[in-house]
Amino acid sequence: MIRLQRVTKRFDGGAEALHNVSLRVDAGALAFVTGPSGAGKSTLLRLIARLERPTRGRILVNDQDLATLPRSREPQFRRGIGLVFQDHRLLFDRPVHANVALPLEILGYRRAEARKRVRAALDKVGLLHKESAAPQTLSAGEQQRVGIARAIVHRPALLLADEPTGNLDPALSREIMQLFLDFNRVGVTALIASHNLELISALRKPMLHLEHGRLEARHGPRSESPA
Ligand code: ADP
Ligand code: ADP
Repeated sequence: MIRLQRVTKRFDGGAEALHNVSLRVDAGALAFVTGPSGAGKSTLLRLIARLERPTRGRILVNDQDLATLPRSREPQFRRGIGLVFQDHRLLFDRPVHANVALPLEILGYRRAEARKRVRAALDKVGLLHKESAAPQTLSAGEQQRVGIARAIVHRPALLLADEPTGNLDPALSREIMQLFLDFNRVGVTALIASHNLELISALRKPMLHLEHGRLEARHGPRSESPA
């Protein structure tokens, strides 16, 4: 599902955010990316979502080499990915359902189909009863659930989450992680960046550990030697 071969990312004028990273996450897996702040976790996720381009190396997502992905196929590529952010990035000028509908609007879904999918997505995160609420009236945990509903509303095969529990207390964090486990159980591949080691160690899922942009071989999705 995800494959990196000797990927290096250097930002203009900066140091290397990632150095020679090779890894593989199989379809159907749920894996965590850990490491201290600045280790390169966000950069890794952004490269996989093609929000950034690598300086060197090869990235394959769903057998598609991102270096050769034509612009014309970008929308199709994006459709296969759901993004969850730490700060959820909800728009406070519109109700919950309109926030969740955003990816569908971008993808050109028709209104009736979009309504159906938005309701299904909100139901999955347990917030159907809040569909008309203003996001700012929701708790932090509920807001993150709306962010997750928005990320899965177009039924992506791959979920990428960047510190999704970063702003939440331990109990809410566990609930949010449970949602990811639930989606994974029905076939969604997930890669989740988190520095909450206490929480994720208990889940017994593969972990990829980054330090200063380098992948540390530990347990976890095969950190493969470059072919
Ligand atoms: P993490 O998510 O683990 O905190 P990041 O991927 O955000 O780490 O950052 C890795 C390194 O790359 C840091 O040194 C950070 O300052 C740098 N970096 C990230 N994004 C940019 C950018 N757009 N321009 C320059 N440097 C960046
Ligand atoms: P930026 O990195 O410039 O702040 P964003 O990260 O907000 O931009 O969005 C980058 C891309 O990800 C855009 O193409 C946007 O449509 C898409 N996107 C944003 N949120 C989601 C989501 N929840 N699910 C799927 N795609 C999203």
